[in-house]
Amino acid sequence: MVRYVYDFHEGRRDMADLLGGKGANLAEMTRLGLPVPPGFTVTTDACRAFLASGEEPEGMAAEVSRHLAALEDSAGRRLGRPDDPLLVSVRSGARFSMPGMMETVLDIGLNDDSVLGLAKVSGSDRFAWDSYRRLVQMFGSTVMGVDAARFDEAMGRLKAARDTPDDLHLDANGLAVLVETYKQLILDDTGRAFPTSPSEQLRLAVLAVFRSWNGERARLYRRREHIPDDLGTAVTVQRMVYGNLGADSGSGVAFTRDPATGRPGLYGDYLADAQGEDVVAGIRNTVPLSELARLDPVSYRRLRDNAGVLERHYRDLCDIEFTIERGTLWMLQTRVGKRTAEAAFAIAAELVEEGQITPEEALTRVSGDGLARLMFPRFDTGALGRTLAHGLPASPGAAVGAAVFDSAEAVRRAAAGEKVVLVRQETTPDDLPGMVAAEAVLTSRGGKTSHAAVVARGMGTVCVCGAEEITVDTAARHFTTHDGTLVEEGTVISVDGSTGAVYAGAVPLVASAVMRYLETGEQSGGLVTAVARALAQADAVRRLEVRANADTPEDARRARRFGAQGIGLCRTEHMFLGERRELIEEMILAGDETERERALAALLPLQRQDFIGILDAMDGLPVTIRLLDPPLHEFLPDRTRLAVRVAAAEARGEQPDAHEAELLAAVNRMHEENPMLGLRGVRLGLVVPGLVAMQVRAIAEAVVARTRAGGSPMAEIMVPLVGAVEELRIEREEVERVLAEVSRESGLPVRCPVGTMIELPRAALTAGRIAEEAEFFSFGTNDLTQTTWGFSRDDVEAAFFSAYLDKGVFAASPFETIDRDGVGRLVRIAVDEGRAARPGLTIGVCGEHGGNPASVHFFHTVGLDYVSCSPFRVPVARLEAGRAALDTQTSGTRSTRVR
Ligand code: ADP
Ligand code: MG
Ligand code: MG
Repeated sequence: MVRYVYDFHEGRRDMADLLGGKGANLAEMTRLGLPVPPGFTVTTDACRAFLASGEEPEGMAAEVSRHLAALEDSAGRRLGRPDDPLLVSVRSGARFSMPGMMETVLDIGLNDDSVLGLAKVSGSDRFAWDSYRRLVQMFGSTVMGVDAARFDEAMGRLKAARDTPDDLHLDANGLAVLVETYKQLILDDTGRAFPTSPSEQLRLAVLAVFRSWNGERARLYRRREHIPDDLGTAVTVQRMVYGNLGADSGSGVAFTRDPATGRPGLYGDYLADAQGEDVVAGIRNTVPLSELARLDPVSYRRLRDNAGVLERHYRDLCDIEFTIERGTLWMLQTRVGKRTAEAAFAIAAELVEEGQITPEEALTRVSGDGLARLMFPRFDTGALGRTLAHGLPASPGAAVGAAVFDSAEAVRRAAAGEKVVLVRQETTPDDLPGMVAAEAVLTSRGGKTSHAAVVARGMGTVCVCGAEEITVDTAARHFTTHDGTLVEEGTVISVDGSTGAVYAGAVPLVASAVMRYLETGEQSGGLVTAVARALAQADAVRRLEVRANADTPEDARRARRFGAQGIGLCRTEHMFLGERRELIEEMILAGDETERERALAALLPLQRQDFIGILDAMDGLPVTIRLLDPPLHEFLPDRTRLAVRVAAAEARGEQPDAHEAELLAAVNRMHEENPMLGLRGVRLGLVVPGLVAMQVRAIAEAVVARTRAGGSPMAEIMVPLVGAVEELRIEREEVERVLAEVSRESGLPVRCPVGTMIELPRAALTAGRIAEEAEFFSFGTNDLTQTTWGFSRDDVEAAFFSAYLDKGVFAASPFETIDRDGVGRLVRIAVDEGRAARPGLTIGVCGEHGGNPASVHFFHTVGLDYVSCSPFRVPVARLEAGRAALDTQTSGTRSTRVR
């Protein structure tokens, strides 16, 4: 038979799937002998059964009664008994923490009779009525569904009538009046009376917590955080302890270290004469824990000792909820605490120093995303202006600019050289030009997958979204903060996309110490040391190599400083822009062989010089050079503009410029409806005579030059967009012919491995054949994602990705995180069949996914040799490659009960 209830004595920390995080950790603290008010937890199994059938699963009620009876026995009191009532809390708690998303009801067991008993035994009328009004309020909103604001309004009216700003000044009488008002409110609103039976209160509260799993807030939160919808919540029933019993009582939260910086030492807030929910509700000002040390040194010392026990036991930063009841300390909750990226690195390093965890374990406690955040400049925390709003940190970095309220204004001001922040309720594809022009985007609505968030992240623009406390009035061109401050268009604000904060004025920026370390090796303090150790540890354990995508010597040098072990993608198209565009134009327009050869001959030395620079910067490390990839028309002038000019000349009765007419004819000839699926990649090499030969000659001659200069150039030649082995075979013959030619001419053997990108489904599906001609593969996962899904990134990302993410079609953009099931399957097939055909085939990835943490783990798992990403992502990829290596070592022992 399934069990639905576990006493705190029966649970353990690793039972979070069944007992929720809160229940499991309460049980763990009980086992550790810490002072936890007794209680029991109803399992997530019960919740799932209830949500599926709409009825309490059979046997659950009896089990709850049995455990309640045991709780009553241990307390020597009965739930809600008039003379000396036992009160309990009913607390929600899912497998993954969902702060504030579900419900908790305190003080269950009070009614018009037991409130008098509670007053008598506690000796405080005020306390008893305060507890009662809390129950009616929480029960009314949570269980009976009355809008919580109605209760707050009633409380506000009473405070105003009694002329007091503070709930502490409401006496027992006032609170008794409030209870009656609340009860009437519930009756008027729902047509049902507040239930007076304590056992009925308990039963209804438990079911309400179950139901809160499917509340709108909770669902939205889960979608944003990628928490499965079918886990359900556990419900913990626990004896109440009272922090609202007067000045020698209170409630607080504590962290075993500072969660912002990681500095050791107890850190937190305390509120005297308060129940737990008051601390976060912000109804009165809390005091720091140092103040508790003064108010109640004995309880403070106990708290500090207990925090030490927890930290040593969990071997990590813990956060704690506690209550002091007339000088007695009670522990009400703990969990491994959330922390900033800075604190994560600092704490991991510190715990290694203290001998609590191994360096490998420390690596599992930090993340590439965290490291990426630490590489951005930050606002000077000593100079922060007034906080205007707080939203979701949707795209990291810090930016300052004038608030503007529509896309056109953003574009206009940016064009005039002004820095702007685009402020919208939410963005749509129409806002795109403004988003491009803006330093940052701020929205009052929408989550981390909203249009604003997705697009800003894609562009690397700072974004804070869902700042619900501001009201954006686009027509009036201002926004209003929650305290009524008006921010007009043109006002300078500062937006922190790493924390979600928005400040008034221009907050000064400080450079990132981590970035300085990566650039110069300068060790400037604890955080940098911690990051350096984590990276060193990652380098020691990772199997994946990390290369960079770099097209210039500067990028190559930076990548090298950041730890790149070569270049995985050196694109050549950028080398054909600027002044050289005309040479390309000539080559395209060439009327005959001689003209074409002249253009190519002019390009050759320029291209050779490009490669010499890059091979020099990456001396001794592989440099994978991709032959020209984009459609040729990208190098020609815009078709419409040309057509207009030619037509205008004709309209004036003039003869159009001969060159322009010729250009227009060429552009028309080459016009493609879908250029990304047109004449590009290897197809160019096969039909444009001389192009491949020129590029290969430039590479080979650069190798010769570098070798003569005493260097160790390691160029590799990569053919893009191959779909059939025949394409590669033909192109490769040309490549080998030129390499042999240059070897002969120079007298130096020039050996460059020739490989291909795998970026078309057909290439992946015929990888065994292609491997016969390829010495290496490199997955171009951007194009592979486009061609597998059949969508063009430029068109779809802004148009409907946010809708797809909201509807749950995908959990993350497949352009950011590799789609394991589809694109990933093609990658697996190509790896397996490629290596089967050619053992030892080197395989890497050079799409943007190469720098994405989740994708790096996937590439490790499928056995790639390296990932290649932009220079700035290289440290991130190193770190995640290390974490991935540890993950596979331990994955056999990890419990993954996520259903
Ligand atoms: P959340 O998950 O939102 O933090 P909790 O279940 O932790 O909700 O409860 C809300 C507040 O009520 C917390 O501050 C908690 O410490 C307090 N609380 C919960 N149960 C009890 C109890 N039995 N006695 C006293 N305070 C309690
Ligand atoms: Mg809590
Ligand atoms: Mg491509």
